Amino acid sequence: MARDTSPQCKQCRREGQKLFLKGERCLTDKCGVERRSYPPGEHGRGRQKQSEYRVQLREKQKARRYYGVLEKQFRLYYEKASRQPGITGENLLRMLECRFDNVLVRLGFAASRRQARQLILHGHWTVNGRRVNIPSYQLRDNDVIAIHTKSTATPVIREATELTGQVPAWLQADHDSLTAKVLRKPERREIAAPVEEQLIVELYSK
Ligand code: SF4
Repeated sequence: MARDTSPQCKQCRREGQKLFLKGERCLTDKCGVERRSYPPGEHGRGRQKQSEYRVQLREKQKARRYYGVLEKQFRLYYEKASRQPGITGENLLRMLECRFDNVLVRLGFAASRRQARQLILHGHWTVNGRRVNIPSYQLRDNDVIAIHTKSTATPVIREATELTGQVPAWLQADHDSLTAKVLRKPERREIAAPVEEQLIVELYSK
């Protein structure tokens, strides 16, 4: 399965802001953006030419990197979102937000999307009692998430729960039993992604 293996701190530096891709390290002064707040590469500190296209492209790249999705899959999300009723940008963000790997991060069961992805791929989680090993799995209303009874990842997951702030209102988490429930789909205001989705829609609808 294809995945983005490029250095994560470079991705944040390219987008000029913290995307919190590395879990605990992102909260320390070792953060790449804190240490070098300019884009990576030889010309990183040079003057960047700003154009409308560039702004839209960067917003799309930022969203892709934040959710850990490759270009082809991101485009498919956009096409699906544009066919759904409602606002395309919000539909797009809602689909990305309801990915299994992202939900584990929001619940506090993983320190980063990359860790969530690995835990899912290795079969440590179940949805409605069945093992699900697909990080992009779309969660629906009333889905019940639980750690697999034979999972050996409990210490790692408990460590991640200690980093968690607040669990969003559309989710319900029990950090003792390591179970959770999706109460409903998130509203736009409940999605904490640092993304202006309208710019992405403008880019793709050209
Ligand atoms: Fe981004 Fe985290 Fe690296 Fe900081 S430490 S640059 S937030 S991945």
